[in-house]
Amino acid sequence: MQLHHIANAPALSSSGRTIAVIDPSDGQPFDEIQRGTAEDIDAAVHAARQCYQTVWHRVSAADRGRLLMRLSAKVAEHAEELAALERRDCGKPTTQARADALALARYFEFYAGACDKLHGETIPYQDGYSVFTWREPHGVTGHIIPWNYPMQIFGRSVGGALAAGNCCVVKPAEDACLSLLRVAQLAAEAGFPAGAINIVTGYGHEVGDALARHPGIDHISFTGSPTVGTLIQQVAAERHCPVTLELGGKSPQIIFADADLDAAVPVVINAIVQNAGQTCSAGSRVLIDSLIYEPLLERLGHAIEALRVGPAAMDLHVGPLIRQTQQQRVWDFLSDAQVAGIPMVAQGQIVDEAPEGGFYQAPTLLRDVPVQHRLAQEEVFGPVLSAMPFQDEDHAVELANATRFGLVAGIWTCDGARQFRMARRVASGQVFINNYGAGGGVELPFGGVKSSGYGREKGFEALYGFTTLKTVAVRHG
Ligand code: NAD
Repeated sequence: MQLHHIANAPALSSSGRTIAVIDPSDGQPFDEIQRGTAEDIDAAVHAARQCYQTVWHRVSAADRGRLLMRLSAKVAEHAEELAALERRDCGKPTTQARADALALARYFEFYAGACDKLHGETIPYQDGYSVFTWREPHGVTGHIIPWNYPMQIFGRSVGGALAAGNCCVVKPAEDACLSLLRVAQLAAEAGFPAGAINIVTGYGHEVGDALARHPGIDHISFTGSPTVGTLIQQVAAERHCPVTLELGGKSPQIIFADADLDAAVPVVINAIVQNAGQTCSAGSRVLIDSLIYEPLLERLGHAIEALRVGPAAMDLHVGPLIRQTQQQRVWDFLSDAQVAGIPMVAQGQIVDEAPEGGFYQAPTLLRDVPVQHRLAQEEVFGPVLSAMPFQDEDHAVELANATRFGLVAGIWTCDGARQFRMARRVASGQVFINNYGAGGGVELPFGGVKSSGYGREKGFEALYGFTTLKTVAVRHG
């Protein structure tokens, strides 16, 4: 049984209740986490505040960096163990789970080096004054994390907050806590003081809500669905608590007739099947130049048909979805497509070894999806790719921008001037030209526009969000 991690010690929930941990590959429970309460959150916030006031704010930026570097090394050393936990907990194929563990180590490494590079400025002002700014930590930051990339999101969010000098209270998703509880233990071993990192597990409407409402939380970093993001924003607004929202997407991959299709096809496919399509930045719409619509659909169809889906331990292209309700959600989208007469081009295959109880979904390519259909507007959060043709650049931009989201866009063309024109015109937090995701580099600021959220995490930019600016004006005559 797993316990909360509060002040570097395991803790039972005051509820006396637990939540079963289910393996998505077979649908069977194999562990339990604590079903946290508002009281547990209160204990974690208290521990974080104590740490901040008595220890952490006196630790120099360079020493914070050294601690993060030690944690990075520990995570790298335990990468296989963390990957195995994530594989079982989230149904991630081993290769993808391992990549997440190594990305976590890299996040801590990046933020270790960033700690002592964050500073204010001096500002020229009237004669007789010296004016400068300090970048100060918020104090205690709250982190609400989804289940799709627990380690990566912990790395970018908690890593950035610690580097900026905050103490953290973390609420992982109820479906995916195990790797993060282990990382918190590794942080204690690496020398982080008691209270710097606290983890309380449980349901969103109980623990997540209590965290967002707690008056001792000075900043909230939320990554999750737009629906819950709205709730967080409302709750935070009541006490004017600053929030960073990393929400969903319906990201377009735009392919012009002059693109290098050999390079584009595998990337376009990977962008929708990685983590079984349960990725905020999934490239879930493929907009194709009408000149190459039919031949490219054929190529994409062959690539989809070659994909194999199965238990995470088999380490195939695609693992199971996280839970049965997510599987049902994807089925609902596909049956809506059928009712609307949207043609299916191709599907991948679920292998015979996949256990009955697992939450499997074959990758699916649909064509001629009408721009107003929910398949072109809403996040499926499964391996479903919607294709539609465009006539020219203006039409491509119109389709790309025709959703409420704006997280990522991929643009494939060899025309240099068009690359820049398109990058400017597409409404999106990130634009990738002739690639998608740029290998996920931790250095690259990440976030959305429109309903994909606001604020940036990852990269140095994140540190501005995890700090507040104080202006100091000295009149010395
Ligand atoms: P979710 O919004 O259901 O849950 C996210 C977290 O919020 C979980 O920890 C959950 O327990 C908690 N939560 C739920 N209800 C809450 C409440 N009332 N108050 C406080 N917390 C609450 O999202 P999910 O299903 O876990 O994740 C999928 C979503 O996350 C997708 O929309 C995806 O696009 C988005 N996402 C975005 C990014 C990004 O960087 N933009 C990254 C990953 C996932």
